Amino acid sequence: MAALNQGFLIKFWGVRGSIACPGSSTVRYGGNTSCVEMLVGGQRLIFDGGTGLRELGVSLLAEMPLEASLFFTHSHWDHIQGFPFFIPAFVKGNRFNIYGAIAPNGSTIEQRLNDQMLHPNFPVPLQVMGADLKFCDLEIGETITIGDISVENALLNHPGEAIGYRVTYQGKAAAYITDTEHFPDRLDENVLWLARQADVMIYDATYTDAEYYDAKASKVGWGHSTWQEAVKIAQAAEVKTLVIFHHDPSHNDHFMDQVAADSRAAFAPSVVAQEGMVLDLRAASQSTFVHRP
Ligand SMILES: [Zn+2]
Ligand SMILES: [Zn+2]
Repeated sequence: MAALNQGFLIKFWGVRGSIACPGSSTVRYGGNTSCVEMLVGGQRLIFDGGTGLRELGVSLLAEMPLEASLFFTHSHWDHIQGFPFFIPAFVKGNRFNIYGAIAPNGSTIEQRLNDQMLHPNFPVPLQVMGADLKFCDLEIGETITIGDISVENALLNHPGEAIGYRVTYQGKAAAYITDTEHFPDRLDENVLWLARQADVMIYDATYTDAEYYDAKASKVGWGHSTWQEAVKIAQAAEVKTLVIFHHDPSHNDHFMDQVAADSRAAFAPSVVAQEGMVLDLRAASQSTFVHRP
């Protein structure tokens, strides 16, 4: 097994919400749906299995046999559709610990990943996956430890429920908070708790405030937030770097450039997530912290 980076790296394999949107107008920020890899303390943690997980899987073929932990926020399509195409899961000798909370209908993450691969919607059932898959149902608010890493979770505000995560290792912390909608009258205490003084907060900024509050096409109640709300959380929770994430598929590169400029003007340490981007939490300076593809 290849030796993993002992530091704290965050790699973005999919940064979109809702549905993949490849094409010439999204080529710079990327079109794959949610998948974020954290290489931390010699462990590989993977957050969500949107279509970005397929490419992560391809990149891992050279590193097998491998072991990784997959954490699912929830099972909307944009967070699980890459899983049936995650090639390392089909290879004997690999081992994956798969975490998720019980859904409001009582189904486990194992049942939901299994269901999306059933005939006639998919030709290959989950049982064909040859890797050692160990499924773990998370309690809301429980802390799990993997080596020297702790992973906390909290409930988010999303139709069908989702959970956010906070990863802590040797004094560094990264929060992965998608999909969630802010409250009209207060900052979400669960989000503040996950983000508390985090070095990095990845946050669901699907919309701008203008889109969210649009008089004719309001997005209120759709389960997502805005970059302006992300800034409020980042400031209140004393987050060091805000990562704007889960981009709406209708937002092309030009639009995302504008979001990047506007969010930086409001909160200087803001970064718009881009497919292929790597953050190095152990970097000595800001200039070596963000690596663009
Ligand atoms: Zn989503
Ligand atoms: Zn969702």
